[in-house]
Amino acid sequence: MIALSHSREQDLACPWRFHEKHIAKTVPREEKDFLVIGSDFAKFAERYRKHCKAHGVETDYDFVRDYDVSKLAYPERVAELIEKFSQSDFAVVPIDSKHFTVEARMAFDSGLLPLPEKMYFSKKVAYRGKVDMGYKVGSTVYLVDDKTGWSDADPEQLRKYAYLMPLWRKIRSFDKIVCVLNYVAKGSREVVGEYGRRDVNDVFDEIMANLESVNSRTEWPAVPGDLCHAYGGCPVPSCPERDRATAVGGIRVPWDIASREDAEAVARLLMYQKPMKAKLKEWVEANGGVSVDGYVADFADSKRWKCRDAGKALRALKLLGVDPEIIMGNLSLSEKEIAAICRQGGLGGEETQDFLLQYGAFSDSRRFDLRKEKDESE
Ligand code: SF4
Repeated sequence: MIALSHSREQDLACPWRFHEKHIAKTVPREEKDFLVIGSDFAKFAERYRKHCKAHGVETDYDFVRDYDVSKLAYPERVAELIEKFSQSDFAVVPIDSKHFTVEARMAFDSGLLPLPEKMYFSKKVAYRGKVDMGYKVGSTVYLVDDKTGWSDADPEQLRKYAYLMPLWRKIRSFDKIVCVLNYVAKGSREVVGEYGRRDVNDVFDEIMANLESVNSRTEWPAVPGDLCHAYGGCPVPSCPERDRATAVGGIRVPWDIASREDAEAVARLLMYQKPMKAKLKEWVEANGGVSVDGYVADFADSKRWKCRDAGKALRALKLLGVDPEIIMGNLSLSEKEIAAICRQGGLGGEETQDFLLQYGAFSDSRRFDLRKEKDESE
């Protein structure tokens, strides 16, 4: 039995990808920073919520303050998320609710009947799902999914869990299921679905159809589509449709440089980078920031300092007791700046060259850049 989960069902859009990732298992474990950060934050959130429940407190800021991130791969970024979490109403844990569940590992057999949590990794499991937090208040069941990235999340997973969670947790009496996405980095939450008990019954048929389809499949073709570029690029190196799969808007985007064609494709991308960045800037100015795969394109406040009077500033530093050697050692005069000074001071080209040779030295170096080819006919 080939088992499914929501993310595995998404991989089914490209059978080759599904086969390589989940059957042949040729794809190395992804270590992308946003995945590692998300997983480390999830561990914190699980421990915090379980701790609050065990101690009968809705919040515990001492626990948050004392949480040790120093040994994590990205301590500052996880600490930032924890700080945002603690300042938001996410930090309040609904400990008095019924059916309170954190990081529930839901497992189901081939007929979608619930299996105990300890069987989560068993071969008998046909469908798996993990709920960050679930609980019931009055006659409403809440499902909460924590998101640590900036991009808008897909609410589809929560729609499936709206069917599966009450089934697995044996919650029989309720009127409504509310699905909430906690955007921890943005400090906001969004209700992405409100369902009556019968509104999500289709999920049963959808999952059963996918289970039947994947378990009867004999061929695993590569089917290029949105998945090729989702979450920072497809992690399947053996893709036979690599050339088609890596084309974005007519430009091929290789994930590695293994040939001259790959190198040409990367050079072409760099060529378009500057004008496209300018267009993106215009778009963001008019429409607001854009988030994608853990990165955000937006304006950020910054300050620049410009010296009003260099002579006075240098004299003031000397008067403050700074060693002149230190001052001069930290000042740099580039060839371009000297040339501009000479030009504005009325010195000619020859005098400028003499000056440059007398007070500095030219050295050979290699600079890598993308520049316009020289026209041989010129
Ligand atoms: S790159 Fe696209 S076509 Fe190739 S395996 Fe990945 S998802 Fe499938």
